[in-house]
Amino acid sequence: AARAAGGAQHAFFDAELNARSRARALLEAELRQALEAGQFVLHYQPKVDVRSGRIVGAEALVRWQHPGRGLVEPGRFIPLAEEIGLILALTEQVLQAACSSLRRWADAGRRPLPLSVNLPASSLADRRLPGRLGELMRAHGLAPSSLVLELTETMLMHDVDAAIEVLGELKARGFGLSLDDFGTGYSSLSHLKRLPMSELKIDRAFVTDVAQGGPDAALAVAIITLGKELGLQVVAEGVETPAQSAFLKARGCTLQQGYLFSRPLPREDFERLLDEGCGPRVAHASAA
Ligand code: C2E
Ligand code: MG
Ligand code: MG
Ligand code: MG
Repeated sequence: AARAAGGAQHAFFDAELNARSRARALLEAELRQALEAGQFVLHYQPKVDVRSGRIVGAEALVRWQHPGRGLVEPGRFIPLAEEIGLILALTEQVLQAACSSLRRWADAGRRPLPLSVNLPASSLADRRLPGRLGELMRAHGLAPSSLVLELTETMLMHDVDAAIEVLGELKARGFGLSLDDFGTGYSSLSHLKRLPMSELKIDRAFVTDVAQGGPDAALAVAIITLGKELGLQVVAEGVETPAQSAFLKARGCTLQQGYLFSRPLPREDFERLLDEGCGPRVAHASAA
């Protein structure tokens, strides 16, 4: 009986595995199609200086406008794209779209607003990256300083010396360099001081409970101090409540991003936000 049950269980797992690999194969095929059909769009989330309430930058976040499933979040397809070798093609489209928006805003006479783009882990392994990005900016008639490249610690720590070289060249060309999700990876502080970053982003994990005054508050304060001492711009991500915003502001972290100010928005909505300002929510946050 045990044997039969085991066999049945095995068959069940096989069926489940099959279903899973079929779903994956489908997703894979759809992802390839999506790249050709141009189904990826960027949404824009403002970065706010809470002292003035002004929008001082934005982060571009990719979404998949799937014909049947609607808007798909990056967490559902970026890892797969990395695994099956489509991430470079996807990144290329993201960078093109980001530059198109920057160009469009400059042509419309808007004040310059640096745009942050998330780079995948594999991108720093390519030594041609700085040259390619330089070429892309030239093609769009943009200064490299209008683009901020967000990188995570984990990707930098893989081969620190190679990363430092590529980062150094990017910095020399004038690109902004942001260390994303800081505090969640495996970086060591001795490496951090060697990285030529311009910005450090405190991960949402520390921001969530920051106003409770527990260990996360202590860590957030330590990260703010560390970043400032290293001469970096410090940005808090995932700010959702006035209490979180006020705590961070009081500790000197005045650059903030999060649902409190705005969710990531389609380009037209983001442009409307730029025209109108973040509204009462920012006023509220900066008054707190
Ligand atoms: P990330 O770069 O750390 O981006 C922040 C994520 O937090 C975004 O999720 C954003 O929508 C979300 N977020 C912002 N404010 C709040 C808030 O107040 N509360 C909460 N709960 N969440 C907030 P999203 O857009 O789903 O992106 C997830 C991750 O996917 C990003 O994390 C980034 O690592 C990656 N990603 C996004 N776009 C791209 C891209 O174009 N290329 C690559 N390679 N990765 C991307
Ligand atoms: Mg990011
Ligand atoms: Mg982040
Ligand atoms: Mg994050």
